[in-house]
Amino acid sequence: MAYEALYTRGRPKTLSHLIGQEHISTALTRAISSGRLSHAYLLVGTRGTGKTSTARLLAKAMNCERVHEAQNSGRPLEKKEIPCNKCDSCRNFDSSPDNFEFDAASNRSVEDVTRLLSTAYLSPLRARVKTFIIDEVHMLSFEAVNSILKLIEEPPPNVAFFLATTEINKVPMTIRSRCQVLNFRLIPPQTIAPYLMTLARRLNVTLHEDAAKKIARLAEGSMRDALTYLDQCYAMADKEILLGDVNETLGLISDEKLDEIISAVTSKDRAAVARAVTNAFRSGLAANAIAESLITRLRDIEFEMLNRGEKNFSELDRIIDALRKAASEMYGSGIPDIILEMTLMKLVAPVQIFNAVQTSLPAQNPLPNENLDAGRKIFYDVVNLLSGEDATVTSVLSKAVVTNFTGDTLTLSFKSKMFAEMFDKQRQKFEQAASKSAERAIKVSVVVDKNLAPPVLNNMPEPARSNLFGALEVFDASDAIKLND
Ligand SMILES: [Zn+2]
Repeated sequence: MAYEALYTRGRPKTLSHLIGQEHISTALTRAISSGRLSHAYLLVGTRGTGKTSTARLLAKAMNCERVHEAQNSGRPLEKKEIPCNKCDSCRNFDSSPDNFEFDAASNRSVEDVTRLLSTAYLSPLRARVKTFIIDEVHMLSFEAVNSILKLIEEPPPNVAFFLATTEINKVPMTIRSRCQVLNFRLIPPQTIAPYLMTLARRLNVTLHEDAAKKIARLAEGSMRDALTYLDQCYAMADKEILLGDVNETLGLISDEKLDEIISAVTSKDRAAVARAVTNAFRSGLAANAIAESLITRLRDIEFEMLNRGEKNFSELDRIIDALRKAASEMYGSGIPDIILEMTLMKLVAPVQIFNAVQTSLPAQNPLPNENLDAGRKIFYDVVNLLSGEDATVTSVLSKAVVTNFTGDTLTLSFKSKMFAEMFDKQRQKFEQAASKSAERAIKVSVVVDKNLAPPVLNNMPEPARSNLFGALEVFDASDAIKLND
């Protein structure tokens, strides 16, 4: 038998299976028991929260023989009986000629909708009630919305409409005011996780609690997404699914690796930041994915802190803001790794400080030129000038080493040809800023040297690094914030 996706298998069979939407299932059970169902429902909520599933359950229940029997005898129904799934009508629902499902996101033409809606005026072939389920109703054309409106205002007998939308503000007020509105909530992770574990047990797989929680958090309130993630992990799993399996299958970075980066940044340990970032890159993840995971993790940490009654989030917010900015700069930049690395480095210490401490730095390479300190001062001035406005330039400069300064020519060396070429594109900008710093025209000569010592901004060797950090202590952290604005 072909494998049936969990999303299909996990779909609720009765109102009692409607996870995380108890306010809706309870209200509907009461309405069905007392026969007070509306002929038009507007189901509102983000994707994957159960709108279409609920519409199907309602459509099925409206035609369920046992539900009708209970209604006629005045017996109150329970959620797990709605619908019964045993009577002829329930069993044939999926192939019923009287239930119409329509996705407005893919069929928007007036003809499509008109053709569908015109059948509303014909009596049902077999069912008691003819049902129309229209997804993403806000995407219908103006004309299509008008024909629906006409049907809702003067409904033909035995017809019911279920209109689902993710964007209520795009649904005209005329429609909203004529429908019974059902508001679907985001499903909290603490509701999703145990459900996933139950589902996995039914598949004879042990889903570990931390793994279930990770999937639940990732789903951001959508049961459909949670089931899709679980499906992917299940496909790769043997007898059990561990947190590591989830990370690996879904291409996620582990919380430990993320925490390593965060704690290095918050403890202002530049060397540890470099180590942790390298470590994260080694896991083969793209910089954007790491940045996004860091933001999610930081939000989780803030949430935990909030639960503990802590109130000061300014440091974490500062990191989140910088990462958000970095994430948007990464798209299409060609050097996302460097942008991430530089962003985290800048959070540890403002680039500005190099103006003040550069004279205390020992030379990295044996230097043939005594003007080198002057050259470095210009270089750091430029980094300082450009870092606020252009992360790409800063990133390229982070790979540069000042190796000579003679007359009006500053020599920048790069270990990799790629960065030298990237610098060349920014040369004009650099020369302008350098000339401004030196108060005379400065030219740059670029050298590619495979044996170059690591650049100053990253991987600074001991003891220069310690000296630098000693010097950093005296600077106010607000400088760092300014740079990232
Ligand atoms: Zn039934």
